[in-house]
Amino acid sequence: MTRRIVVVGGGISGLTAAYRIIREMGPRAVELTLLEASEQFGGVIATDASQGVVLEGGPDSFLRRKPEAVQLAQDLGLGREIIGTNPNVRGSYIVHRGHFHDIPLGVRVGVPTRLDTLWTTELLSLAEKMRVWGDLILPRKPISSDVAVGTLMRYRFGNGYVDRIAAPMLSGIYAGDIDRLSAQATAPALLTYQARGRSLIREAEHEAKKVPVSGDNSPKAPSGLFVSLLRGVGSLVDALVVALESKASLNRESPVQSITYQSEGFALTLRDGRTFEATDVVLAVPAYRAAQLLTFWDRDARRLLAEIPYADLAVIGAVYAPNAFSRPLARTGFLVPRGEGLEMTAATWVRTKWAYPDDVPLVPVRAFFGRADQQGLLDQSDQAMMETFRREMGYIMGVTDEPRYTRVFRIPQGMPQYLVGHRERAHRILNEAARWPGLKLVGSYFDGVGVPDCIRRANQAAVEVAQAAREPLHSPR
Ligand SMILES: Cc1cc2nc3c(=O)[nH]c(=O)nc-3n(C[C@H](O)[C@H](O)[C@H](O)COP(=O)(O)OP(=O)(O)OC[C@H]3O[C@@H](n4cnc5c(N)ncnc54)[C@H](O)[C@@H]3O)c2cc1C
Repeated sequence: MTRRIVVVGGGISGLTAAYRIIREMGPRAVELTLLEASEQFGGVIATDASQGVVLEGGPDSFLRRKPEAVQLAQDLGLGREIIGTNPNVRGSYIVHRGHFHDIPLGVRVGVPTRLDTLWTTELLSLAEKMRVWGDLILPRKPISSDVAVGTLMRYRFGNGYVDRIAAPMLSGIYAGDIDRLSAQATAPALLTYQARGRSLIREAEHEAKKVPVSGDNSPKAPSGLFVSLLRGVGSLVDALVVALESKASLNRESPVQSITYQSEGFALTLRDGRTFEATDVVLAVPAYRAAQLLTFWDRDARRLLAEIPYADLAVIGAVYAPNAFSRPLARTGFLVPRGEGLEMTAATWVRTKWAYPDDVPLVPVRAFFGRADQQGLLDQSDQAMMETFRREMGYIMGVTDEPRYTRVFRIPQGMPQYLVGHRERAHRILNEAARWPGLKLVGSYFDGVGVPDCIRRANQAAVEVAQAAREPLHSPR
């Protein structure tokens, strides 16, 4: 019997799941429909290449050590378009009191492993440096299961180091608040170090001897923790859509309003009244949306989904003339700690960060806005955000020229927050999901927010759907 599979959500998770299901089962064995609420596919992935340079509104990179994104790009024929980071430019600056400072060499999962470089940094006062040394002698704090990254780090290294170095480096990935982010879910190495020995520094040093450290600014250091795509991450989405077009029914502007469970599968109703029946559903939407759709679920499990908070974000892309900057763009960009009185949280000098094969007479910059607890970011108009951007670029980089082109990317509820207890919460949600064998939940709110994590989860879901298709139709457990 042909399986009727509906994938809800056309971000990287949903598109990958659809692509892999068809690869696993063959197009004839499955009738696959993908329903995407918005006008375009890609979810938070948004590439603007209209100016001849790549401006990313969402992700710009894939962690190389998680191979799923690179593998997918290769499968889709984009292997030749994978680019690495610029080997001559390593690490980013940290902004402090209007000046750029290098990240001290050898910071690993936020832990300093090179006390010599920490000693010379101007990011910390003498007292703050001495406080970092405290880690070598302070007793271990018993941690039962989980703790906030900030709680553990502040105890071991003091506030100066955490606020000015560790937090901007660690919280950037999650646009999160280090004092609420779960160590277990976002920096499990810290708990491993703490379980092994008293000092995080000593344990991280030990680990650093085995694997190269991050944040190394020396040109000779091994390059390429991250990769990207020549035409932007959006080209991965485009390639998935092309690969799926003839084999599946892809629908934009098709928001699913409700899903009900019936004896032999699911019935989905769209906001415009259209209905679909499915033997299997892959739900590739954010957690808060899944909570609204899974009305047949246990109330507690829906509450757990609904309670995963998401941070609002905005990214501003700007293209400048090459002479707009008086100082060389000698790093990949900069991070802005809280407490500097600035709204921008980070910026990337796109052409300096990546090893593009050609030169262009343009300087594309992208700047991030939005911290986990920030209220009202997206209530501002684009114009107000641009004014902040220009003012802060003037203060931080001394640039007074008008950009030739700008684009504001608004990302409401763009990033799930893995707060303390997240692993336990995700585990309970997945337990409930397992009661509905025709239903798969994929996305960034379980065990990794990165694109490779989303692809891994989607691949796994596809394999499970294909396996289930070889068995008789399911009923809930
Ligand atoms: C600014 C930013 C920068 C990032 N940088 C990086 C990076 O450099 N590297 C990296 O690896 N990761 C990065 N990430 C994380 C990564 O991009 C995301 O975790 C990932 O793309 C999420 O994909 P997804 O498909 O799970 O979810 P989404 O992209 O959120 O897609 C969900 C889709 O579901 C649709 N949808 C919602 N409700 C419905 C409904 N009722 N019916 C139908 N469709 C619906 C939405 O419209 C959306 O298209 C970044 C994220 C952001 C926001």
